[in-house]
Amino acid sequence: MAEPALDGLIEALRRLPGVGQKSAQRMAFHLLQHDRDGAARIAASLQKAVADVRHCDRCHTFTEGAICSTCSDERRDARLLCVVETPADQAALERTGSYKGLYFVLMGRLSPLDGVGARDIGLAQLIERATDGTVEEVIVATNFTAEGEATAHVIGETLKSRGLRVTRLARGVPIGSELEYVDLGTIAHALSERR
Ligand code: ZN
Repeated sequence: MAEPALDGLIEALRRLPGVGQKSAQRMAFHLLQHDRDGAARIAASLQKAVADVRHCDRCHTFTEGAICSTCSDERRDARLLCVVETPADQAALERTGSYKGLYFVLMGRLSPLDGVGARDIGLAQLIERATDGTVEEVIVATNFTAEGEATAHVIGETLKSRGLRVTRLARGVPIGSELEYVDLGTIAHALSERR
């Protein structure tokens, strides 16, 4: 019993992270049976986001213009540049309210086994961004996982060799953890104790 439209929807939902065949099927049935308006909204939102959302020219985070609102905020301290893995990590740091500098979002982490190299995390753009003459300190806030640490090491060595001051979030953040899931007080402390 082939139902191309239904099968296609389930197949599409399976592309989402952490969604397998069963959950995809449950979502598809739910939308079609109970929430057709919601389904139409999801479809429209996806289409609009894919068409309108791009990466900021300066920090690589998601934005709808050429430069994101954080990068274009003149009240931010342009002497500080914080390097994070994802927009979610950036949001976690923002929620602490204790960081007033700017960001560079890698949109990933170095992961040679998965084929993610320096080019994929925009290392060349990071170097260019950090050596703009205004940045005085680069705070590396990649996650405290094996890959995050390896990424921090490469970034640290690369930027130090260009004469920049590079600091790392302090060890208050538990090993193996992703910033996104760490409580705000701990992040704020790690930020103030960076070295
Ligand atoms: Zn930006």
